[in-house]
Order: sequence, then C-alpha cells, then structure tokens
Amino acid sequence: ASRAEKTGKRVVEAEGVSFAYDGQPIVRDFSTIIGRGDRIGIVGPNGSGKTTLIRLLLGELEPQQGTVETGANLQVAYFDQQRALLDEGATAADNVTDGGEHVTVNGNRRHVIGYLQDFLFTPDRARAPITRLSGGERNRLLLARLFATDSNVLVMDEPTNDLDIETLELLEDLVANYEGTVLIVSHDRAFLDNVVTSLFVMQGDGRVDEFIGGYSEYLERRPKEEAAPAKAKKDSGAKAAKPQPAPESTEDRKRLSNWE
Ligand code: ADP
Repeated sequence: ASRAEKTGKRVVEAEGVSFAYDGQPIVRDFSTIIGRGDRIGIVGPNGSGKTTLIRLLLGELEPQQGTVETGANLQVAYFDQQRALLDEGATAADNVTDGGEHVTVNGNRRHVIGYLQDFLFTPDRARAPITRLSGGERNRLLLARLFATDSNVLVMDEPTNDLDIETLELLEDLVANYEGTVLIVSHDRAFLDNVVTSLFVMQGDGRVDEFIGGYSEYLERRPKEEAAPAKAKKDSGAKAAKPQPAPESTEDRKRLSNWE
C-alpha cells in the first residue's frame, strides 16, 4: 500500500512545525499532510521526540513555530498496554460495553458476544470475570475495547510488546482494516513492514524524515551518510543546520484537496 492509494480525506496538515524544550530542538521545521487511511509508523530512539511529534500533530501541543490544522472531528483513541486499565470486577463483555449488550463498530451495532468472538473469545470466556483471563486474552480484550470506541484516529504505543502470535496477527488485521488514521510508535520492524503506509523517522536532532513505505525498505533506501548534501559543520551546532525540505509535500498537496 502507498500514499497514492489514499481516498483523499485530509486529517492533519502541519506546516513548518518546530518545537524545542529548553532550547533543545525536538521537532524542527516539519511539514506533512496526513490523510484518512494513512497508517504511519513513528520510529526513532527513546527521547528522540516521537511522543512530542504526535502531540503536535493532534493539536495537543502548540508548535513554537509553524502551524497545525486538524480536521473538525478528530476522535482519538489511544492504545498503550502498559497504562491501559480494565475493570477487574467485571466480565470481559462488560469491559467492552460498560454493562450493555451491544457495541457500535464502524457505525454498525453488534452484539458484544459476537463481537468478542472476532477477538477469539468464546461466549463462555466473554462472560468470565476478567480476573480469570490469560495475558493473551487480556491483550485481545484491550484491542476489542479499543476498536469498539467511535474513533477516527488511533495512536498506538509499542502495541506489539508481549503479544502472542495469534494476538499479533489479529492486531495486524485490525490495523490494516481500520478506516481511520493510525499513528504507531514501534520498534518492531516486521510489524511496521506489515501494516504501515509511511514512516516518520526521528533523526535525533529535530529533523523528521517522511518516507513512503515500510521500515525495511527505508533502511535499504536511506541515503548513505557520505552522500548527504551540504552537511552541517560539526561546530556550527544543530540550530545552524539547514532544514531539509519535506519530500513529497508538494505532490501530496496536489493529491489531497479535501478535509476529513
Ligand atoms: P520519545 O517519545 O521519542 O521517547 P519524547 O517526545 O517523549 O520522546 O521526548 C523528547 C525529548 O523531550 C526527551 O529528551 C524528553 O526528555 C524531553 N521532554 C519531554 N517532555 C518534556 C517536558 N515536559 N519538559 C522538558 N523536556 C521534555
């Protein structure tokens, strides 16, 4: 899949966005257009600014320079296994519906037991108190709950950590078939290769490279250090380095004309 296949609904437009903490550039002069159906992997070492970039793009953090415009009706759902809380006194089904019998998924009303079968829960397991669930079932329940929220943007933080193979395959299907936009922070190269349409690669000095394709492809194709044009002098400091023009941005602009 590539950006060219996009339906064209615009979700986020960032233009010349910069952000620094205490004079330390975290994001520098970043421009992009994110469309509906884009699945973007955000990669880079810890502390390189992935979370900051997401918060800027979703309008949760004001850029110090540049602008971010978001679509009128962004409904953001977050997936973070470490921080996700379940109601330990309730059943799996009740954790998805807050006590009701139905969920609404992609605008369709569904019975929760049937819905949970998509997440490999038998009716018995769906009615079980969650204190009896295995680790794998818990992760599948978190996914069931996530995809039953009425969201059009998913933000996932290291979603493949500790997933068994069944749950991982389920996650890949869910993400690939999601109708909205997905932002995924991950170090899992195989997962990124399987699900993303593009990457934002944090360079560690505030530069963010946008790449259309998977992570393996990025690693194969990225320009070699010595071939990089006009390298900043070592002593000139990060601030003096020329911002790189955002590749593809003009193309994208032509392709994408309407807003989500
Ligand atoms: P990542 O998500 O890639 O781990 P973050 O966006 O969380 O990176 O953080 C980028 C850098 O900004 C880190 O060096 C972090 O210590 C710093 N940082 C994050 N939040 C704050 C804050 N509220 N105040 C000062 N520095 C911060």
